[in-house]
Amino acid sequence: MFQPAGNSIIVRSDGSPDGAGMTLQIDTATALLMDTRYVPSPNVDDRPDDEMSLIVIHGISLPPGEFGGHYIEQLFTNRLNPNEHPAFVPIADLRVSAHVLIRRDGELVQFVPFTHRAWHAGESSYQGRPRCNDFSIGIELEGTDEIPYEDNQYQVLATLIACLLRTYSQLSDKHITGHSDIAPGRKTDPGPAFEWDKLSHLLAAGLG
Ligand SMILES: [Zn+2]
Repeated sequence: MFQPAGNSIIVRSDGSPDGAGMTLQIDTATALLMDTRYVPSPNVDDRPDDEMSLIVIHGISLPPGEFGGHYIEQLFTNRLNPNEHPAFVPIADLRVSAHVLIRRDGELVQFVPFTHRAWHAGESSYQGRPRCNDFSIGIELEGTDEIPYEDNQYQVLATLIACLLRTYSQLSDKHITGHSDIAPGRKTDPGPAFEWDKLSHLLAAGLG
């Protein structure tokens, strides 16, 4: 198992009216965010090479275009009821997960310890390397390809990424990508609504 150097890291972020002063800390023994709701997903296994070198950003909403329910958590824990919505029928039997979800109000929910493999990318390739799940961390934003993501979500995302970069030295701000970029033609999230410039500015402010 990959052992990150040092102990837990505290990252404080600045500059956001909502997230100002937000603190995130990873317990490196468990690879879980502290003071964060943890909903363990059964859709998890070991990374083949203990490598974590890529961050993949996703967008998801269930039912599509609707926010605020618990359906994403149900999907990631194999408890989605296909009878509750027609859109759930084709996905209820999927076995998928992500490391964390950032909800519209900025709440973080963790499903898989960062040191383990979550099942978020599917068939994928990053810079010629297949099977991105093996070496990536998957972050889901509650949203759609077209509806602007919330400022709160960007703030929490940037704070989370900064925390991850400082905790796990294999990660780099040069290797952050979208699901649509590693599975082109198959996936479109996080979509044109996701403002990469905004994330870059927040990261530069927080890391500088
Ligand atoms: Zn995705």
